[in-house]
Amino acid sequence: MHETATPDSGGAALPEALRFRSPAPLVDIGANLTHASFDRDLEAVIGRARAAGVTTLILTGTDREHAEQAVALAREHPGLYATAGVHPHDASRWSGELARAMRELHRQPEVVAVGECGLDFNRNFSTPAEQERAFEAQLGLAAESGLPLFVHERDAGRRMREMLHAWRDDIGHAVIHCFTADRETLYGYLDLDLHIGLTGWICDERRGHHLRDLVGAIPLTRLMVETDCPYLLPRNLPAKLKGRRHEPALLPWIVREIAHWRGIDEADLATATTTTATAFFRLDPRQQDSAAPDHRQEST
Ligand SMILES: [Zn+2]
Repeated sequence: MHETATPDSGGAALPEALRFRSPAPLVDIGANLTHASFDRDLEAVIGRARAAGVTTLILTGTDREHAEQAVALAREHPGLYATAGVHPHDASRWSGELARAMRELHRQPEVVAVGECGLDFNRNFSTPAEQERAFEAQLGLAAESGLPLFVHERDAGRRMREMLHAWRDDIGHAVIHCFTADRETLYGYLDLDLHIGLTGWICDERRGHHLRDLVGAIPLTRLMVETDCPYLLPRNLPAKLKGRRHEPALLPWIVREIAHWRGIDEADLATATTTTATAFFRLDPRQQDSAAPDHRQEST
């Protein structure tokens, strides 16, 4: 997501009331674990995620530097994977050299998607023209590599649909991560057979209200879940969190909230989103079993 406010590293263990345990293994499809706020206690953060049943983390690579860091982390930790792309905020830095670096990253076995890339006309840190150019190039890289796309869109739904429509036959799966838009935009994305990623935005009583009525419209075969940590800490957590840094161990709370508004069992939603994410990112399904805390094994 790239919110502008930067949370502090909390550092300490989670309060008892925030030690959730998912009834089924979860995939956090958007974790910005290369963010500086995780530098001091990254291993503890990964350990807490596993203890909460969040067995698979897709680390978001928002530029070359962070994508390379994400790949290095994925290499060292079973259950961690990386994406590699250039965020629309940084689109003005797109170049032929950057395209070559991205192409090289997309060949790494740890990289499971092209992105985070897309359009953000909310803040326009890069101009819309620069954003479209960088996104167009990354659509091409997705078509070329066959990898799925991890897409960011804010206040650019119409243009996003036009661009994805033009590329739809050439690219494979694509997910609109951290979906926060309206019903019309959602239906447009579903018509394009896109996947939808939901965050703790739905836990926000000020701005997430409309999503509560929309979650039922997303087929379970198209729905995935994410923290977008350290950003977007759910606003309705049952305890205060010092530093206000979001982390993957809190994903079960978001799943519980989505299940509530969708009117289905939390375990069923957890299982469905993990099945969907495993197919979307072409993950090894055995990973979820071997990383589950109940039968954790040393890798050999
Ligand atoms: Zn984003």
